[in-house]
Amino acid sequence: MIGLFGGTFDPIHFGHLRPALEVFESLALDELRFIPSHITPHRDQPARSTEDRAEMVALAIRDQPGFVLDTCELERDRPSYTVDTLALMRERYGQNKPLLLIMGSDAFAGLPSWHQWQRLLQLAHIVVMARPGDFPDSAGFPGDYVESRRVDDVADLRQRAAGSILRVPVTQLDISATNIRAALKQGKSVRYLLPEALRDHIHSRHLYN
Ligand code: ATP
Repeated sequence: MIGLFGGTFDPIHFGHLRPALEVFESLALDELRFIPSHITPHRDQPARSTEDRAEMVALAIRDQPGFVLDTCELERDRPSYTVDTLALMRERYGQNKPLLLIMGSDAFAGLPSWHQWQRLLQLAHIVVMARPGDFPDSAGFPGDYVESRRVDDVADLRQRAAGSILRVPVTQLDISATNIRAALKQGKSVRYLLPEALRDHIHSRHLYN
């Protein structure tokens, strides 16, 4: 099974990395692909270029076998809709391979506002990692959309290529890129919030000054 983890990653931090590793191990994924968004339809365009954000991801994951940077959204010169990325992955991996779209519970709560969101589960499973905070689980979805697709076991994901929702318990790390950017702006230390090599890289390139 292939895990697909999209994000702005401005910058990537331990709140992404540790839960992603736990998902990777507990679901025994073949690989977990980190996909930096390029043209972000739902939020202001990040001040760091996609290339800079991708480079930070590459640096952060370079020592972890099975973690892969995927710049497919960078190659599309239009809004980075997840549905388009999943369609591309379906072409790449064929109809039978289980694809797992991985996201935090905050992102999942907002899913019904995503472009063509109902197609997402036609193309992939969704794996939700609990993130600290209070995020309604199924409130924004019509009827029993979430409950009728929920599974409790990773084995259920292997049965089919797409269509199920699994919650995976992960270590709760209340870290956000917003808070990291704010700390950097105020000249505060971001040590222990992201990998040390990435911290050095951010400072030497003056990425957030
Ligand atoms: P920002 O603060 O700029 O909004 P972020 O820290 O939320 O950024 P994103 O790149 O927007 O990070 O998030 C990418 C994905 O990672 C989303 O699915 C999000 O839910 C998930 N995620 C981010 N931080 C955490 C965390 N601390 N724990 C679990 N999931 C997280």
